[in-house]
Amino acid sequence: MGSYEAVIGLEVHVQLATASKLFCCCPNKFGQKPNTNICEVCAGLPGALPVPNRQAIHYAVLVGLATNCAINQSSVFARKNYFYPDLPSGYQISQFDLPLCEHGHIDIAVNGLSKRIGITRIHMENDAGKNIHSQGENVSYVDLNRAGTPLVEIVSEPDMHSAAEAVAYLKSLYGIVTYLGVCDGNMEEGSFRCDANVSIRPAGSEKLGTRTELKNVNSFRNVQRAIEYEIARQQDLLDDGEAVVQETRLYDADKNCTASMRSKEEAHDYRYFPDPDILPVTISDADMEKWRAEIPELPRRRMERFMKLAGLGEAEAEILVQSKALADFFEEAAQKANPHKVANYIIGPLLRECNARSVAIGAPSTWKMRPESLAELVNIVDKGLVSSKIANDIFADLFESGVSPEHYVKEKGLVQISDTSQIESCVDEVIAANPNEVEAYRGGKTKLISFFVGQIMRATKGKANPGVVNELLKKKLS
Ligand code: ADP
Ligand code: MG
Ligand code: ZN
Repeated sequence: MGSYEAVIGLEVHVQLATASKLFCCCPNKFGQKPNTNICEVCAGLPGALPVPNRQAIHYAVLVGLATNCAINQSSVFARKNYFYPDLPSGYQISQFDLPLCEHGHIDIAVNGLSKRIGITRIHMENDAGKNIHSQGENVSYVDLNRAGTPLVEIVSEPDMHSAAEAVAYLKSLYGIVTYLGVCDGNMEEGSFRCDANVSIRPAGSEKLGTRTELKNVNSFRNVQRAIEYEIARQQDLLDDGEAVVQETRLYDADKNCTASMRSKEEAHDYRYFPDPDILPVTISDADMEKWRAEIPELPRRRMERFMKLAGLGEAEAEILVQSKALADFFEEAAQKANPHKVANYIIGPLLRECNARSVAIGAPSTWKMRPESLAELVNIVDKGLVSSKIANDIFADLFESGVSPEHYVKEKGLVQISDTSQIESCVDEVIAANPNEVEAYRGGKTKLISFFVGQIMRATKGKANPGVVNELLKKKLS
């Protein structure tokens, strides 16, 4: 078995969350009755004239700026000619030699190592409709509702060398477009989808190997698995003395394998030419300046800030910034309580509750627990009003109900007992009731301290302040 290096480049399609479609006034909406959200432009009727959507261009420029691209203030829409039933005009309106954005990069981190991934280009294009192949009926339908949805296609350099790097890159891009608010991020509905180009080459070689393209992989997990499978498949081929064929393959998530869809030899020559219906898009300096100022703090920068703010490692901070809403939630709570402790409650019990209930981690606005209540919980533990053990035990209830932790603790009689005299009488009782253990302890078996603590905790239903208990026990037993 030879030693190979994998080479991966991704083409990511991002649906822009504009109000209307890219070249007409139809609403840009998902999930309506087939063919109810279309017009002459969507249906590609002869003579219908496309008019570029300013908001879509605005959003695409934001993506370009956030990925460190050079923005071409004059770019050109081109016709990409091909036939498919979901494309009645016979061409997609895309960009070819003059895309909106070029020569960008983003930085990713894998296993603590930071790495720069180049972005070749970002161009705008309209989405096609959808073919629906009916089961049983032996017919296919065409739904044009999606036709005209604005997309940006983000093409990376072949700079990634493992499935983990590809996923890290994809997650970074996802974070960027959702933080910008230009994409709703709904991967199940196809708002963010990816084609992965994969090749392998002998380790140390500079020359790129023959690539295959894995089409429309629709979740981070499937991207990971599809690329891993494809790398292994290509290695087996080369090890057996066979060659990789340049082709498009489809990933089957159920079987966890890829299968050939079409070979590149059949690939179309798209005969690109500038769309004569659309003037070159020019962006003024004033717009550029205005849009540049709109770029918010992006996930990576925010992650670094959270690491300092709350004394967190990269992996922990990354969990907090995985969605802007979750990061906002953390930050709001962290303004009212110890940031490190707030972070630990979110990363631990809070996300566990979300998982247990299949509640969206990225949508804290749907949770009953508010940032203030989480901060309150941290603060009452800090003040000693309740033990951290009990705080953990009641977390599920607090998350579920959204009630004030302080009220809850008081109402349920869970307030921590820190009053020395009250604990002292309990300590005395436990010592009196366990003479053998007391003797053993005094004889040197000091590990028995935890036995006494346990007894006292049981007697006080876990409410005794463990610090006070320990102190009193040590004093009385010595
Ligand atoms: P196409 O549109 O035909 O797929 P592109 O030139 O747009 O071709 O390239 C698509 C992607 O394939 C890019 O992300 C690029 O980095 C990647 N790529 C090109 N060659 C290779 C290769 N040999 N191995 C892996 N990825 C590659
Ligand atoms: Mg491609
Ligand atoms: Zn339309």
